Amino acid sequence: MAQGGCKCSRCGAALEVEIPQGVNVERNPELKDKIKDGSLFLRECPYCGTVNLVRGEMLYHDPEAKLMVWLLPEGAVDEGRIRAVESQLEPLEGYILRRVADEGSLIEKVNIFDAGLDDRVMELCKYITRMELGEKGEELGTEPMRFFRMDGADGILTLVYPKDGKMHGAEIGFNVYEDCRGILQRNPEVTAAPGFAIIDESWVHTFFR
Ligand SMILES: [Zn+2]
Repeated sequence: MAQGGCKCSRCGAALEVEIPQGVNVERNPELKDKIKDGSLFLRECPYCGTVNLVRGEMLYHDPEAKLMVWLLPEGAVDEGRIRAVESQLEPLEGYILRRVADEGSLIEKVNIFDAGLDDRVMELCKYITRMELGEKGEELGTEPMRFFRMDGADGILTLVYPKDGKMHGAEIGFNVYEDCRGILQRNPEVTAAPGFAIIDESWVHTFFR
């Protein structure tokens, strides 16, 4: 099922958009690549060439990873509807359910789980990385820090964040990730809420201050 109706941000022309409302990456693996590189959310205007970000709702489903990420832009959030969808999903035992409000957050979730990592641990890694950068006098804005990739046999993790209009990278060792995982194991109350949980930098702040 597709949804749409989008106007070019520059010339106002109506654009044909086909952002699927549900993506099952086992059935349509090609869509996963388009989500990861962001191209699924971009449309070039045929009249003026402007590349537009197309916003919409999407339920991302990876059956093998038992992962569902619901992209639900701020204006589309309806708690009653969320509960109704959750009640239909109850037979999906052992699933990781997440809710995000923007495309960048969806892409990041897919990257984190594709790398075999836990997004709760990742948020704690970001929290610690922000503190360490702050101690070094690095001024960070309020824009989100994102997991970008994990490299090599040592599992070096790269986090990215915007500063002065540019993206910067911070590398952390896998030992930091392991330490953060240990902290969460020792604090079982620091976990995801039932249903489509929002796990982001604000989530960490409800536990660690
Ligand atoms: Zn246009």
